[in-house]
Amino acid sequence: MSSFDTLRLDGVTRRFGGKDALSGLSLEIHKGEFIALLGPSGCGKSTALNCLAGLLPLSAGSIWQDDRRLDTLPPERRGFGMVFQSYALFPHLSVRKNIAFGLQMRHLPRAEVRRRTDEAIRLVRLDEHATKLPGQLSGGQQQRVAIARAVVLEPSLVLMDEPLSNLDAKLRLEMRTEIRRLHQSLGLTTVYVTHDQEEALSMADRLVVLRDGRVQQVGTPEELHTRPANRHVADFMGYRNLLPMRVTSVTREHVGVEGPGMTLTGTGVGDLFPGDEVVAAIRPEDLVVGEGGVPVTVEVVEYQGRELAVEARTDQGIMLHLRAAERPAPGDKVSVVADPARVLVFPGEPS
Ligand code: ATP
Repeated sequence: MSSFDTLRLDGVTRRFGGKDALSGLSLEIHKGEFIALLGPSGCGKSTALNCLAGLLPLSAGSIWQDDRRLDTLPPERRGFGMVFQSYALFPHLSVRKNIAFGLQMRHLPRAEVRRRTDEAIRLVRLDEHATKLPGQLSGGQQQRVAIARAVVLEPSLVLMDEPLSNLDAKLRLEMRTEIRRLHQSLGLTTVYVTHDQEEALSMADRLVVLRDGRVQQVGTPEELHTRPANRHVADFMGYRNLLPMRVTSVTREHVGVEGPGMTLTGTGVGDLFPGDEVVAAIRPEDLVVGEGGVPVTVEVVEYQGRELAVEARTDQGIMLHLRAAERPAPGDKVSVVADPARVLVFPGEPS
């Protein structure tokens, strides 16, 4: 295996027709890390992955594996494995032959090809299906073949582009654990592209959030969840209440904000001053029924796991998403409160 300590992307940029699909991506990936590239459709995730893989030349920037420059090398000389959304298996070859193919292309001794293929088949738990053709397998099993085919070559880095998006919800959950298990047992360094923030948060050591080709934030799941860098990341991380408001007071600890029929105390992200237009971001689970808060009328109540998800409207017609421990009825008038530490106040920059 061509191993490395650090893979470095330095200002990686890719343009299509004068427009940046990916703009100045700089990132250090450490050996053994699981990195997720996350963002909405069109944000540049696949472009980033394809630049790494060598399938797309860079318009600017460079990629380094320790001291070795990679971006000038063709894909096959980078030593990476790839797993795609469409499994891209050979339909006329058995599971075993699909997995052995890459080893055979390298003209390794037959005994070694057999040993490594067996090991990979066992690793992805396809022992009972080794002689079947891809068409005789479920989607999840086919994706496991694709994963085995990539890892059998002991790549220094595995690139995965939305590998689970063709699977149904239950299988997706199972495969998340499966990929994570493989990553841990093999110590694989992985870059994983997804638009599903739950998937990324549950699998990755660190996430890179992209928007319009630009990095918005790099951080651990916890950092992104509790300290999103801007309101776009907050939006993506499930802060469903994004309320346009105005700053009324600023202290060392807190920021007072007011909007139509509503005042809140929150925590400022960045420098804020009285009079500033801002966005107050609150996750539904941090907005609860309590005394002396914002008066609302309950509209929709939904059972979600162990909690009740509630949509309620303020007197000024603003819809809030919150949680309740006890079931309120539609039409009930309640008041809602939030812990100031959990109300993040972002500058209201133009979107
Ligand atoms: P998705 O999840 O939909 O695949 P993505 O985040 O992977 O989206 P990219 O496929 O990287 O996004 O695309 C980023 C931007 O670059 C988009 O605006 C897209 O239209 C543009 N783009 C990508 N590939 C090409 C291409 N070959 N020619 C022209 N524009 C392209």
